[in-house]
Amino acid sequence: MFTKKEIIEILKDDIQNEQLFEYADIVRKNHVGDDVHLRGLIEFSNICKCTCFYCGLRAENKNTERYRFLPDDIVKYAKNAANLGFKTIVLQSGEDCFYTKDIICRIISEIKKLDIALTLSIGERPYDELKAFKDAGADRYLLRIETTDENLYKSLHPGMDFKNRLNCLKNLQKLGYETGSGCLVGLPNQTIESLADDILFFKENNFDMIGIGPFISHPDTPLKNAPNGDFTLSLKVMALARILMKDINIPATTAMETLNPQGRIIALQSGANVVMPNVTTSEYRKKYEIYPNKICVNKNADKCTGCIKRKIESIGRTVSKDYGFRKRI
Ligand code: SAH
Repeated sequence: MFTKKEIIEILKDDIQNEQLFEYADIVRKNHVGDDVHLRGLIEFSNICKCTCFYCGLRAENKNTERYRFLPDDIVKYAKNAANLGFKTIVLQSGEDCFYTKDIICRIISEIKKLDIALTLSIGERPYDELKAFKDAGADRYLLRIETTDENLYKSLHPGMDFKNRLNCLKNLQKLGYETGSGCLVGLPNQTIESLADDILFFKENNFDMIGIGPFISHPDTPLKNAPNGDFTLSLKVMALARILMKDINIPATTAMETLNPQGRIIALQSGANVVMPNVTTSEYRKKYEIYPNKICVNKNADKCTGCIKRKIESIGRTVSKDYGFRKRI
């Protein structure tokens, strides 16, 4: 187990990067094996009441054409993904109040008839709603803390409360969800020390999944002039997460591939064991612009799935046929 001081040293010093990535790859192989879990991502609404400084979906961005899927269409996309062989669906959206507790519960019950695992990534919700979603059959929930630096969090999330996000994560764990968190790397004013705190926070809380991605500057946000996060630093944070949390699920994030054309494959070889291909159509992929230059926005579900499967097999890995729950060791 690394101390905070050691983590900081590793993050600051680039001389041993290759050893770090190789070691994370060995830990991944020994503890979660060569299987890569595919999660079919449905970005079902880009309407959001929040104003996170970094995010293109922020309520104040008037340049985004907004959309929301009807519940039946969400289920249709899920069916299509199940037919393509996906064993997990991830439903992601902005914080869109149209989808009430009852509407989400109905969508969950329909999708759970398909014999697949279901992950929600729909932002902060009160305890009773999270409980209702769990009772309706949701298996997992993704809620990145984004940064554990409370002052930085406050400066980037007007009207939001760090404590509430923490509380939400605690509630998810209490309710028995497989709980995912994670952070952005390279936010303006984010320090290496705070990234070390992020990694230790993930470990202390024993999250089941950790998603780490570089910050990518969006032209229609207050951070339009900020530089992008660094690919290698993001990869290092991810590799350290794997070394400290041997049996969890770690996605090779799409944001990594936006900064490096081989980003997801490199991530899969540096500790990651999950990929989340988009299973909606091109029209909506473009509009769900949390950051610019998202990959594969002109592709459709079957093309994307075939392409990522080939990439996975080309590096000697296998596409998992099971639900991909965390297997605790
Ligand atoms: N509303 C949901 C889903 C948010 S989108 C929620 O609050 O959890 C999913 C993730 O995209 C966010 O958690 C954030 O880490 C990431 N993201 C948003 N804007 C980004 C940007 N400009 N660059 C990179 N990642 C970004």
